[in-house]
Amino acid sequence: MQPAHLTLPQPLNLIGNHWVPARAGRSMPVISPIDGEVFASIAESDASDVDAAITAARQAFETGDWSRLTAAERGRLLMRYGRLIEAHAEALAQLESRDNGKPIRQARADMIATARYFEYYGGAADKVHGEVLPFLNGYDVTVHREPYGVVGAIIPWNYPAQIYGRTVAAALAMGNTMVLKPAEDACLSVLRLAELAVEAGFPAGALNIVTGRGDVAGKALSEHRGIDFITFTGSPEVGVMIQVAAARNFIPCTLELGGKSPQIVFDDADLDAAMPYLVNAIVQNGGQTCSAGSRVLVQRGIFDAVAARLAERFAAVTASASDEDAVLGPLISARQKKRVETYIAEADAPVIGRGQIAADTPGGGFYVAPVVFGPVDPASKLAQEEVFGPVLAVIPFDDEAQAIRIANGTEYGLVAAVWTRDGGRQARVAKAMRCGQVFINGYGAGGGVELPFGGVRKSGHGREKGFAALYEFSQIKTVVNNHG
Ligand code: NAP
Ligand code: MG
Repeated sequence: MQPAHLTLPQPLNLIGNHWVPARAGRSMPVISPIDGEVFASIAESDASDVDAAITAARQAFETGDWSRLTAAERGRLLMRYGRLIEAHAEALAQLESRDNGKPIRQARADMIATARYFEYYGGAADKVHGEVLPFLNGYDVTVHREPYGVVGAIIPWNYPAQIYGRTVAAALAMGNTMVLKPAEDACLSVLRLAELAVEAGFPAGALNIVTGRGDVAGKALSEHRGIDFITFTGSPEVGVMIQVAAARNFIPCTLELGGKSPQIVFDDADLDAAMPYLVNAIVQNGGQTCSAGSRVLVQRGIFDAVAARLAERFAAVTASASDEDAVLGPLISARQKKRVETYIAEADAPVIGRGQIAADTPGGGFYVAPVVFGPVDPASKLAQEEVFGPVLAVIPFDDEAQAIRIANGTEYGLVAAVWTRDGGRQARVAKAMRCGQVFINGYGAGGGVELPFGGVRKSGHGREKGFAALYEFSQIKTVVNNHG
């Protein structure tokens, strides 16, 4: 049962500003993680739908109204869109919460962030300058930042609206056009957001949305010769396929593939300040956050004290669908619940503490109580693999050098935090972290809209957010003018 005010998007794709069914006439069910019930459907697209969307995007880029806009006009449009999202934030949040299962508080925060991406990149659209270079006498050399053309985007289900926002706002700001395939497990907010894009006045073909299966529609998009750039957020396994497809087409890609991000707590840390961050970084969004703080490294002398405080805090976390203030809801799917439960069952470490599942949660939902393990062996599965659930591994260390080794000792490298009052140590450890974002005495999963974000190695490559994303979504052309 959805709330009465929740109107649902139709199972249609957005192609050239027209809402059209999949060409093969197929649709697929949408399940809510809250109760496991089918409550909507989406278009199940294939390669022919993707092809039509890319044709529309190509036309918009080459000759359509989009291609004639100035940077200032693009910026104004993006900002207008951001205000429209803000005006619809509550309905969007309700839809997101129903579709993804995330607590309404989180969904509301996501919509504010989504609107903010359009405000931020709208303001930035006309502020990406080129350069003038010194060269030989008699020459003027100018360096221009140009859009790639048609950008393919494949995004996941954990933050559908936010990741849509950070991808679409930056790519469009630079003058690209787009074909975006959201995740089948949660994409209704994306469809609603796309309706608002049409309402905001984006010209036909600037933004196209094709829903469906990853291994059909996603694969067709990533392999299509008509795209000039591809951006992907999701699992490392699919990330590899995206990069291979990009290589075959000789186009660049950015990959954002998750992590096993550490928070390092030294014995001089302000524990009162740290505790809420240590818990929230793994409980937020059910731990289904690429930048979740899934490892806590604790200096041995304070290990027992930190463990006791974690146990107390985890005990106070209840997964719920009905509590407006809940920080934890269900996981996205039966598959994800099973995956997380398997990690918990196979964990080779003592349980420090557990939360619970509210008594009134619907039986068919995908709830998992949060759990914290420790001491965890840094070489174990639990310390090495991304669980993508509310499961925290606590690992002891003796000194700074060992902390750095353990923190950097996974295949991932997305975010890290260091908790210490020692200024020298803050700087040294931040510098030593092999990852894309470091917090000192704080933790913002993913950071803010303004903060460049992305990984190294198995966490992927390329940077999103901030101005860095504008550079990712554009390429340099050098013009050499021999004027004599
Ligand atoms: P996934 O399969 O990588 O899904 C991400 C996106 O890629 C979805 O839109 C998906 O479409 C699409 N996709 C799937 N197979 C594809 C293919 N062969 N070609 C092109 N696109 C394809 O991730 P998942 O299965 O949802 O989650 C598995 C694990 O990945 C999680 O447990 C977690 O560890 C990690 N993950 C990380 C992030 C992150 O933010 N970095 C996000 C999600 C998941 P469909 O959903 O329609 O299949
Ligand atoms: Mg769903």
